[in-house]
Amino acid sequence: MTIAIIAHDGKKADMVSFLLNYKEILDKIELVATRTTGGLVEKAGLEVIKLLSGPIGGDAQIAAMAAEKKIDLIIFFRDPLDKHPHEPDVQMLMRICDVHNIPLATNPASAELMFTELVRRNSKN
Ligand code: PGA
Repeated sequence: MTIAIIAHDGKKADMVSFLLNYKEILDKIELVATRTTGGLVEKAGLEVIKLLSGPIGGDAQIAAMAAEKKIDLIIFFRDPLDKHPHEPDVQMLMRICDVHNIPLATNPASAELMFTELVRRNSKN
């Protein structure tokens, strides 16, 4: 299973603390991330494949992977109170998720529900 993670600057700390709650299950999952988000997650001790930074094409790379069915789930902690130069890429990524029916969590509450299900499925196997 491959999960993509992206966090806007105001949400990066939330992403790291969210993922650390699920360290055990994440050890069995391939994580891909935009560059800065990935760097912080790596520093926190998780293995992650880092793509380009979001504003220079990282979100677009993740969208392309999603369109090719190389991503099973996306956690994208967006900051609705900030402006983003790459907003068109953000919209494109969300559209691609809808086109291909890829689960997309844009805030910790939704991500929590998805990960609860992942843990439940994993404990059955
Ligand atoms: P970053 O990109 O992880 O490289 O900061 C995230 C984004 O803003 O899309």
